[in-house]
Amino acid sequence: MTIPFDNSFATLPGTFYTTIAPTPVAAPGAIAVNDGLADVLGIDRAWLHTPDATAVFAGNALPDAASPLAQLYGGHQFGNWSGQLGDGRAILLGEVIGTDGIRRDIQLKGSGPTPYSRGGDGRSWLGPVLREYLVSEAMHAMGVPTTRALAAVTTGEQVYRQTMLPGAVLTRVASSHIRVGTFQIHAARQDTDALRQLTDYTIQRHSPDADGPAGLLDAVVAAQAELVAKWMGLGFIHGVMNTDNCSLAGETIDYGPCAFLDAYDPQKVFSSIDRMGRYAYANQPGIAVWNLAQLATALIPLMPDQDAAVADFTTRINRFSDIYQQAWVRVFGAKLGLDDPSPEDATLVQDLLTLMAQSDADFTATFARMTNGDDPDDMPGWQDWTTRWAGRRATDHRAIMARANPQVIPRNHRVEEVITAATGGDFGPFHRMLKVVTAPYAPLDEVRAPYALPPEPSEEVRATF
Ligand code: AMP
Ligand code: MG
Ligand code: MG
Repeated sequence: MTIPFDNSFATLPGTFYTTIAPTPVAAPGAIAVNDGLADVLGIDRAWLHTPDATAVFAGNALPDAASPLAQLYGGHQFGNWSGQLGDGRAILLGEVIGTDGIRRDIQLKGSGPTPYSRGGDGRSWLGPVLREYLVSEAMHAMGVPTTRALAAVTTGEQVYRQTMLPGAVLTRVASSHIRVGTFQIHAARQDTDALRQLTDYTIQRHSPDADGPAGLLDAVVAAQAELVAKWMGLGFIHGVMNTDNCSLAGETIDYGPCAFLDAYDPQKVFSSIDRMGRYAYANQPGIAVWNLAQLATALIPLMPDQDAAVADFTTRINRFSDIYQQAWVRVFGAKLGLDDPSPEDATLVQDLLTLMAQSDADFTATFARMTNGDDPDDMPGWQDWTTRWAGRRATDHRAIMARANPQVIPRNHRVEEVITAATGGDFGPFHRMLKVVTAPYAPLDEVRAPYALPPEPSEEVRATF
């Protein structure tokens, strides 16, 4: 037994993908494998650690039951329609049905060129692979729906990114890789048959109770609203919320230029290519709505009365606001130790965030300190706010807060340190940090405490991409 594939996407017509195998690399080397995730997927842990497995994760060997393919999709990038995109550096090996009954994709990222590479090399360098491994596994540990990392390997090859850098491949696991852009490309091609097949497939896979395209839209609206509320509660900035990075499964996907806020600033952007601040922290709910509107637009051709459908879909997308607001109050209410947060609590939360913005308070450390019973440092106006909070919070607020506020997140400056060390051949810092950030709520001890510290001004990372 290697990987118990059970492939469904590959049984769809070729309109949706190109069959293609990964391109082998010079010298596969294991960096990390994820034993816990392997258990969920029904993959034997012992096999994971073998050279055979490393060869599979590098794309040098193909398990018998794999059906390797590159998926077709399109997308809006920074608000502009880009037309056809597709897996330009990723190959879906196939799917497995986990021990929890859930079907998941196993995909290699950085596995060589495909017909969708558009001049790119189809490869990935080590930095983004380690960033995605650390951040996606931390997000999972913090209860955020996300793609996950099953393995990371080095390739023994160099890739050129303004300079020569070590190459790597990430094995990514997702509930699926179906994106808003997967629908958009077939709508753009006016291929209603393909749209219908994709809609049926997606409903069956993610929302079996959904009633047609409208039901699917409802499910994705709700999933995205819940997802973005969770991001906001962690100070997470996705950074590249293009429609091709918006998952129908409601998972966080594509950790390219993502970052966590250090000092709280709602207009914060880390991606140097996002010059207009389109994907700033505070804009994320609005961008999710924009992306959902693109999904709705792509689904319209399936509706018998299209004028009526436009009005109906608009109503359904507008429900995002209520679902999001409720989720946001639930998320931030728990962060403040409220046992039954209600819409009226939004002001208490918002007033704290305003204080934090005014005093450049570190987002994660502020909530972590409050959880630990300490006052946030140097926050003018803090006393008045604390009095209001004390009157509202639950008796056991510290316990509620301990489950809602991570002590440690994958801070940008730490991620950069790990990448720098690994580029020089030292993977120790990566393994140490992975262990720490995948236990985000555990109390701080000597090992963990340094990871909780905000960056010194000299350590601050201003751009992650
Ligand atoms: P992303 O910015 O990661 O969402 O990718 C946007 C598009 O560019 C997708 O179609 C990717 O497959 C493609 N792409 C990004 N990097 C590469 C690369 N090194 N080689 C080929 N295609 C790439
Ligand atoms: Mg992407
Ligand atoms: Mg990317």
